[in-house]
Amino acid sequence: MTRRKFIAGNWKMNGSVGQVDAFGRALVEAAPSLDCDLAVCVPFVYVERLARALESTHVAAGAQDLSSEVDPGAFTGEINGSMLAECGARYVVVGHSERREMFGETDDIVVAKAEAAIAAGLTPIVCIGESLEQREADETENVLARQIGALTRGCERRTLEAMVLAYEPIWAIGTGRSATPEQAQSVHAFVRSQIANWDATIADSLPILYGGSVKPDNASALFAGADVDGALVGGASLKADSFVDIARAVI
Ligand code: PEP
Repeated sequence: MTRRKFIAGNWKMNGSVGQVDAFGRALVEAAPSLDCDLAVCVPFVYVERLARALESTHVAAGAQDLSSEVDPGAFTGEINGSMLAECGARYVVVGHSERREMFGETDDIVVAKAEAAIAAGLTPIVCIGESLEQREADETENVLARQIGALTRGCERRTLEAMVLAYEPIWAIGTGRSATPEQAQSVHAFVRSQIANWDATIADSLPILYGGSVKPDNASALFAGADVDGALVGGASLKADSFVDIARAVI
């Protein structure tokens, strides 16, 4: 099956009203020439503003997290999927390694958040990936198999059918040290085979993004991998120019 390439940005805890507005203006101009799906996941407070700015384009706005609670209630500080959808979000990053590591998100929480996203009509971009220690100890496939197993066991079928997976080796995030195209393709093929063991049809249509120091100058080599369906881009998504250049690298 031919999978359309998808480039998603993750602004992390960066940005300002001015930056959102400038980004929106640049994307309105560039979007007609970009032949791929696009989303930009910004801090909660900017989601609505970005969604409005991108209204006339095929570029979606998204968030970087959501509550695992679906219904409103006494959960101080939390934001649920329906609130995000009401503000114009179409995507939400789930289980980013920074949330797994710094905020104690377990595989079970990641499953619950992916389910909560789907319940609200959002597409979860679910992140998986190994640390440097795990890679050096030859544990990459075990770690990924565990993370994927949690998803195939815990998620409903409709969630797995609709989600986007992002393979993000932790050692490549924000380090300037991307995986090589060969490393990325080989892990993506492994990830797809793990999903195929569970359901070959879903595995075939599942978008698997690569994330970790993707830049305009390494994007096209990474995208050449048969199982690399696009990118989740952190630092280089903060500037419209580099985000657009990455999208232009789609073959
Ligand atoms: C990320 O935050 O998901 C990411 C991949 O960051 P960077 O592109 O900066 O490595």
